[in-house]
Parts: sequence; structure tokens; C-alpha cells
Amino acid sequence: MELENHSISTLHNLLIKKEIKSSEIVESVFEHISDSSLNCYITLFEDSARKKAKELDKKGDYPEPLTGIPIAIKDNICMKGEPTTCGSKILEDFIPPYNATVIEKLEKQGAIFIGKTNMDEFAMGSSTENSYFGPTLNPIDNDYVPGGSSGGSAAAVANKEVICALGSDTGGSIRQPASFCGIFGLKPTYGRVSRYGLVAFASSLDQIGPLAKNTQDIAILLSAIAGRDVKDSTSRDKEVPSFLHNLNSNIKGIKIGIPKEYFTEGLSDDVRVSIENAINIFKDLGAKTEQISLAHTEYAIATYYLIATAEASSNLARYDGVKYGYRRQKTENRKQKLKEMYEQTRKEGFGDEIKRRIMLGTFGLQTGYYDEYYLKAREVRDIIKSDFDDAFERVNIILTPTYPIPAFKLGEKIDDPLEMYLSDIFTVSVNLAGLPAISVPISPALIHKCGTNELPIGVQLIGRAFCEQDILNCAYAYETSNT
Ligand code: GLN
Repeated sequence: MELENHSISTLHNLLIKKEIKSSEIVESVFEHISDSSLNCYITLFEDSARKKAKELDKKGDYPEPLTGIPIAIKDNICMKGEPTTCGSKILEDFIPPYNATVIEKLEKQGAIFIGKTNMDEFAMGSSTENSYFGPTLNPIDNDYVPGGSSGGSAAAVANKEVICALGSDTGGSIRQPASFCGIFGLKPTYGRVSRYGLVAFASSLDQIGPLAKNTQDIAILLSAIAGRDVKDSTSRDKEVPSFLHNLNSNIKGIKIGIPKEYFTEGLSDDVRVSIENAINIFKDLGAKTEQISLAHTEYAIATYYLIATAEASSNLARYDGVKYGYRRQKTENRKQKLKEMYEQTRKEGFGDEIKRRIMLGTFGLQTGYYDEYYLKAREVRDIIKSDFDDAFERVNIILTPTYPIPAFKLGEKIDDPLEMYLSDIFTVSVNLAGLPAISVPISPALIHKCGTNELPIGVQLIGRAFCEQDILNCAYAYETSNT
């Protein structure tokens, strides 16, 4: 039996019926990993994963849906005693003395940690090419990127190198790689999942979320990691239901808004036609679609890149070689001044994209520019949010493409950061407004291809704050519609 092909719920059922053992799932996953050249992982936990699976199998008790199930963790989520590199040289040897809250929760469920996945340095990027540890490859076509910044997590799930994974999403980093790799990825509402132990990129936008092969698995993972946490004051005290048990594929009468600003130039024909095909499926399922307007969409990229870089420049100030991480050693025969140590550490420890963003963020926060850039961006953020509020007065769900193009080739955009930024247009507004959104792979039969490759395309479903169940239901209806 090829266990790595199965979903969490199928494996859970097989485990409780004693038809398989957790150790067998773990072995099949590690087999795939050793055959792979995609570079999905930065660190592997071969010994501890095998040991834990054996212990569980000995007990023979799998009480929770995730008990005995292999999971991969993006390498910006802290695990006690294990390296957490953030894809950066500056944290290459950093070993956190504590667990992120999501890790504690998964551990309580008995999930098995397989390894830490590759990512763009400090989660800045859309291709995983910004990793200090080299790029991850797209499992469908190795000449292409898997997306980013959670590219390692997405590629690992798609290539059966794990059953499910966690990523983080500041401006699309779960949804976009999910769409490039043909899997499901969900960014929860801001405040739904604790950020304690997630290395901060832009604290007002970051959320941890699941990547998996189907909607049911996403629902299981979301219930497992969500909830108020006293260690994160931005996490909210909202009831965490069993998203799995509440899944309902009847979406008759649901109103889906299609924002006209998302279907303009820059959207590739492949994506446009595929999305139109997917919209027709939602109509067949009984949903009502209507055109809506998110009028300030054109300002989303500028707003996001001002706010995200401003917050990043402040969050990344702690990496100065003093308390943890890489420190530039003093050169022989010469006293090194403290300031020189700071400068050289940051110069050698950070990659180009990080430096670019620190400079941009610092610039936007400077006296004299603060009002003009950072404060203005904060104001526009509120306007973008109120566009969504208005739209959600009329519709239950908003449907958009996840990304304007299918996966691009490795190296194709690395020298053009601005073009890469501009392509984040469909994902960043969701983070600015703090809303939940899921990327659902469009069925291969509905994908329009101008070229010859078989690259996946994702459709994004955005919901009202804390209404993850609505978007999960729509995703589930689409997924089970036999298209
Ligand atoms: N591509 C976006 C960026 O580079 C998103 C990153 C993210 O969500 N972590 O900022």
C-alpha cells in the first residue's frame, strides 16, 4: 500500500482499524525523501520520528486525527532543541530553547515531525530561490519554482515527502506555493492561530497555516492549531469548532463575489480561462455569482510592501551577532569595534533580498518620510479593509485567482524583484485586511494551457473574518464535484 498517497483521515482510519502502523507511514515518507532531489527540507528528524512512531505503535492507541501522522514544519517555526534557520545564514546555527505554540498543540495530538522545510530567507519571496540553502524545485516540472516562501512545505506535500505541512503566510506564502504545486493551502484569519514561536517577518500580517492534499486535511489541521494563546496577545478568543465535522458540500444559494479589478491586464490567459471554468463549476453547484468591486486593489502592492518592509526592518534589528545567530569573528591582529561587528555580521549574514527590504523599510520609517509613506500606507490599509467589509455585506465568499500566472522557471525572475512583488497582487490584500483565504487546485481537466506544460493553477476563496468554515465548505464542494 502506498501510504504516502493517502490523506490524514484515510490514514487515521487505517491506524485505528490496526490495518497499518504509524512506523510504516513514516518509512514510506522517508523513502520518498531519500529518492527526491527537490531540496524540500533543511533539517530531517529521522531518528526522533522513527522513535516516536514506534512508541505510538507499541501503545496501539491513535486517539486524535493527527496521532501518528507525519507532518513537516516550515523552518521559521521554532522547535525546541532543533535548528530553526529561517532559510538564512544568520540563523544557520540557531537552536531555539522553546516550542512554538502550534508545535506544542501538534505534539499533544501525537503528530510526527518529519523535518523543517526550505523557505525563502525570513519568508521574503515567492519562489524559494531566496533560501541560503539553495532553491526547492517544483515537483511537477523541476525546471520551475515551487512558489514561496513556503515552497519546501508545498513541494514536500505535493511530492509525497510528507502527509501534510505547516507554512506561514504574510502576503501569500502559503496560498501561492500551494497553487504552484497543485495542493490546498489556507491562510487563517489574523488572530486565529498563535504566532508565538513563529520568527517574525511582519507581525501585523503573519499567520501560520496548513498545506495539505485535500480540504478535509486542511480542516483537521486548522482545528488542531487554532485558538487563543496567552503568549500571543494578538490571538483571539474565538471558538474553535471541528472544521472537519462541520464540512458541508451543499453550497446552494451561497453568494460568491468576483472582483472586477482582479481580471485585468497582467492576468495570463491560462489563469483567466481556468478560473472562468472553475467559476462555472461553482455555478453548477448552485452558488450565485456576482461581479463586485474592490476599488483600491491597485494600491495593495505599494501598501503591503511599505508595511511589510517597515515591520521587517524593525523585527530584523535583533540579528546583530550579540544574543544569537551568526557573529562575524574579529579579524586577526586587530581590535574589532562593536559597530563594525554589527555591520559585518549583518552584511555577511543576510542575503540580498533581506538587505533590500531592511533598507526600504528603514527608509519608509525615517523622520520626514514616516507620514508620507508609512502612515499613508496604514491609512490605505484601512480603506482596503473597508472595501472588503462593503463587499461582504453583499456576498459570502470572494473568488479570485491565487496568482496571475502559473509557476515560472527557476532564475526567470530572480533579477527582477519588482516584477516578483507586483505578482503578489491577488494575495496581499487578504493579509492587509486580516481575512482567511484558501487556495484550491483547479482540476486538471479545467486547466487551460497555452503551452505544453502541465503546471497547476489555484483558485482563491476569501471569507469573512473567522468564517473559515465558509471557505472550507466551498473548497470541499468544488473538490468533491467530480470535475
Ligand atoms: N511574496 C510575498 C513577499 O515576498 C509574501 C511573503 C510571505 O507571505 N511570507 O513578501
